Amino acid sequence: MSTIATKPVSIDNEVAIGEARIFMMSGPCSVENYAQMRVVAETIARSGGKVVRGGAFKPRTSPHSFQGLGLPGLEILRAVADEFGLLVITEALGVEHVPIVAEYADIIQIGSRNMQHYPLLWSVGELDKPVVLKRGFMSTVDEWLQAADHISSRGNQRIILCERGIRTFENATRNTLDTNGIALVKQISSYPIIADPSHATGRADLVLPAARSAVAAGADGILLELHPDPANALSDGQQSLRVIDLADFYRQVGAIANAMGRELI
Ligand code: PEP
Ligand code: MN
Repeated sequence: MSTIATKPVSIDNEVAIGEARIFMMSGPCSVENYAQMRVVAETIARSGGKVVRGGAFKPRTSPHSFQGLGLPGLEILRAVADEFGLLVITEALGVEHVPIVAEYADIIQIGSRNMQHYPLLWSVGELDKPVVLKRGFMSTVDEWLQAADHISSRGNQRIILCERGIRTFENATRNTLDTNGIALVKQISSYPIIADPSHATGRADLVLPAARSAVAAGADGILLELHPDPANALSDGQQSLRVIDLADFYRQVGAIANAMGRELI
């Protein structure tokens, strides 16, 4: 087993993922409306965060669930991010979304269900934009790293892996955060890796401990679901932190980062 140095991925001219600083990306599961996103962006900016997330094209298990606002969602995301000087991460659900998502987003998310959607991987592989590649919830670490290679084989080397929990026999939580996998990726791959404790646990009260364990295992960042009013969220409210909890979340994850000789961005 070798230890391979992480190659930082630049996000813009100022920030990179995979350096000493732990990168935070927060926001709701879905972009619902302008007022919601403005509160989220303002909270992130006030807390010193750099990146806002929010889905405009949503991969929902049921076709009867909210599917996202589509283009108006991208417009809202960009508007609030620009107002508060933030960067945007959002998902490209299909190959057909890549050009429009690339126009509005600074970082493109490939969702768990799409980890092995090769034409989509090739499509974002042709961009010069950072890509967050979520682990398929039934995929091995090896399959995940090979999926990343599909992106890089088309030229784009700006790949960030995201451990978002895998399906195991344990059904007390939505998924199981594979901290082994995080530590392993740090040993065998040069890609930076972040963790999504929201989808990994499915419970707001477990998000903080899961985030701390991910940072302790070596994660380079956290992708967090955050909502002004989780009880009325159109998706994933049960696993979303409240905006008023963000500062404390940063503080507590920051303490683990410091123990690891790192700090939060
Ligand atoms: C999301 O980030 O809201 C999402 C749908 O995540 P995943 O692809 O990990 O399920
Ligand atoms: Mn979600």
